[in-house]
Amino acid sequence: MLQVDDLIKHYPTAQGPLQVLDGVSLQLAPGESLALMGESGSGKSTLLHLIAGLDRPDSGCIAVNGQRLDGLNESALARWRRSGIGLVFQQFNLIGSLKVADNLAFQARLAGRHDRAWQAQLAQRLGLNGLLDRYPEQLSGGQQQRLAIGRALAARPALLLADEPTGNLDEASSDDVMQLLMELLADSPTSLLMVTHSPRIAARLARRVVLHNGRLDDAAAH
Ligand code: ADP
Ligand code: MG
Repeated sequence: MLQVDDLIKHYPTAQGPLQVLDGVSLQLAPGESLALMGESGSGKSTLLHLIAGLDRPDSGCIAVNGQRLDGLNESALARWRRSGIGLVFQQFNLIGSLKVADNLAFQARLAGRHDRAWQAQLAQRLGLNGLLDRYPEQLSGGQQQRLAIGRALAARPALLLADEPTGNLDEASSDDVMQLLMELLADSPTSLLMVTHSPRIAARLARRVVLHNGRLDDAAAH
């Protein structure tokens, strides 16, 4: 469902252009999961942002179900961000002024795919049922990240992009969140691309790659 070919990305800096991606290619099949590893500053978040359509590569191609992102105008790209993908970040990025229930429904409503039964099932499976009237600040870190995952999956995206989603959690909460995420994805066509530093977490995904010197290597080579 995702085909990435030969991405090149530089950032302009005061010292001249900084090359971050130097020919990155990858493929993801529907329902497949891939762990993206690599040292801090190796360009993992940059790659995720390009796939999310939050930024554009200098060259190379990103295609989703055969549709190239660089062929999309701004409104079609905005539709991709809103309804094609779910994004989960280390910092949860919940909306503090909205109750848990409304955070959970937020993206699905934007995407025009609010489904009451699916949302109720998500709330139940993520252990959020007794918390729906709270505000995010009244949740633990693990509960906040389960809510962020629920918000992303409520819209039934084709692709879930997660950038160190358990980076702010202790080991027990992190295992708990990963367990729930993998259970939710097990019977779903949603593909997963997850940035993680943790070999333990990466081991739960179907495949692992490492970003190094602007290129992707098979994790087994590191
Ligand atoms: P990672 O997520 O692997 O830690 P990033 O993709 O965030 O790496 O960053 C890769 C490199 O690009 C780093 O050296 C970072 O400082 C630099 N970088 C990231 N974003 C920008 C930007 N907007 N402008 C300039 N340099 C950037
Ligand atoms: Mg990063």
